[in-house]
Parts: sequence; C-alpha cells; structure tokens
Amino acid sequence: MAAIDDLPPLREVIETHGLRAKKTLGQNFLLDLNLTARIARAAGDLAGSDILEIGPGPGGLTRGLLAEGARRVLAIEKDARCMPALEEIAARYPGRLQVIEGDALEIDPLAHLTPPIRVAANLPYNVGTELLVRWLTPKEWPPFWESLTLMFQREVAERIVAAPGSKAYGRLAILAQWRASARIVLDLPPQAFVPAPKVSSAVVHLTALPAPRFPADPAVLSRVVAAGFNQRRKMLRASLKGVAPGIEDHLAAAGIPPTERAEQVGLEAWCALARSVAAAQ
Ligand code: SAM
Repeated sequence: MAAIDDLPPLREVIETHGLRAKKTLGQNFLLDLNLTARIARAAGDLAGSDILEIGPGPGGLTRGLLAEGARRVLAIEKDARCMPALEEIAARYPGRLQVIEGDALEIDPLAHLTPPIRVAANLPYNVGTELLVRWLTPKEWPPFWESLTLMFQREVAERIVAAPGSKAYGRLAILAQWRASARIVLDLPPQAFVPAPKVSSAVVHLTALPAPRFPADPAVLSRVVAAGFNQRRKMLRASLKGVAPGIEDHLAAAGIPPTERAEQVGLEAWCALARSVAAAQ
C-alpha cells in the first residue's frame, strides 16, 4: 500500500496523542489512509474548492482530502484532545488547513470559507442527520455548498436515497431528493473502523441542484412530511389531521387520495401538498 503522505501512520498518531476513542463523541476512527483518500476523491473537484470537514478526529479523512489536492480545508472538531494531531497536519500543508475547536451544531463556518464549497464528514449519525437536514432546508436555494460527501450507518444512507413505496422512504429521502441528487458511492464494513461499530456504513454523495425539483417552502414541506411519516401506517387524512384545518381539501388540491399512506406519495405530490397548506396559512 503506497503512503499518501509523509506523516506518521494513524495508529501511531492515536498512540502518541492518547486518542482513545470516546463513545460519547461517537468516535469510530478510519485508520486506512488509502480508504480515506478514496472517500476524499468521491467528494468531487477538490483542487477548485474549499472543503468543510466536520469531525476530523485524528485526521484520517483530513489527510485524504489534502493529499488528494483540496485547495483549503476548514475542519471543525469538538474533541480538544485531537487538536495537536490536527496541528501537525496543518504544519505539513502550510496555509491549507484551518482547524476550529467546537461543536459543529453551534459554529457558523461560512465566514472562514470561499466558494465553491464542498462538505465532507464522517460523523456520529445523529449529528450527521441533524446537519444534513439543516443543509437541505435553508430558506434560499442554491445553498452554500456544491456537494456533501457524508458517512452514515448503511441504514441511514438507504433512507436518504430511498424510492417511494420502499420501507426506507421517508422525510430524509424527500428532503434530500427534493433539492439534491443523492447516491451511495461506497460501502464500508464495520472492520474499516477502530473501534468497529455494530453496523455497516456507507458514504452518500449529494450534489445540490441549481433549483428544487418542485416549488415548496422548506419549513412547510418538512412539517407536512414529518407528520405524514410519523404514523406511516395510517391514512394521510388521519396522520395529517393536526397539520392544517381542512386537510382533506389540501390532499385533494395535491391530487392525493385521502386514504393514501405516506410511503406511496411521490415528491411532486408532497410539494403540491406543502404549497396548498402554505397558501392557506
Ligand atoms: N473523521 C474521523 C475519521 O474518519 O476517522 C473521525 C470520525 S468519528 C466517527 C466522528 C468525529 O466527530 C469524532 O472525532 C468526534 O469527536 C467528532 N464530533 C462528534 N460530535 C461533533 C460535533 N457536534 N461537532 C464537531 N465534531 C464532532
């Protein structure tokens, strides 16, 4: 296996800096730099973009991104113990890596980035899902990012790319496919990580569309879809009862039979429903 840089192997970095994985921070580290370089390549045009990396940990993906030619990387990491290891990477790539210590859910990174911007991350799945939903639902579109390349539990990745009628289809699929194109680009077995998690993982690559596939207000669409799938076995006229008065009229306006179940309804009809509800507010 060829070395991707002349920094120490990640096992040694973890040893030197005492980075024993913490469960509370969802730490499962990738130690194979050839694998992190592959994930970095999946992120697209690195040389022409600033990369926002969330949760760099000991820096496996960070090194992959830099070795593969990223113009600049801004990395946000919550665990202070990782800072010395990340500083070593910054010293190896002068002017190309900026590290911010803090919680990615609370930091606005935009002041530190120059477009075009791509996002790459291997995050604990709950933080990843919350950030994904935020990145997909800003009021204005296109968003600050061109693409998102994110590691998830395989089951969450399947929910992002799911088609109507499938068990995995729900709010994540609708929000992701409404304004972006999404595909799974890499599968990883539990043994790719240290420590190995219980489940398999997958990398999802999302590219922002220039405009949403169908018009809708993101907050209303998100609310309507969340209610619809909250009781996914119920007919929509029942599960959506609390969303807006006269929900049967809105379903009719969107061309959705009131007895339909959420997982049978396609993106276009969800957007039509959200528009009808928004117009009556
Ligand atoms: N990117 C590294 C890799 O691939 O080996 C680490 C991945 S590990 C699954 C997740 C990383 O996200 C950890 O380093 C953890 O400390 C960090 N993290 C967890 N919650 C975070 C948050 N809210 N903001 C920023 N970093 C966070």
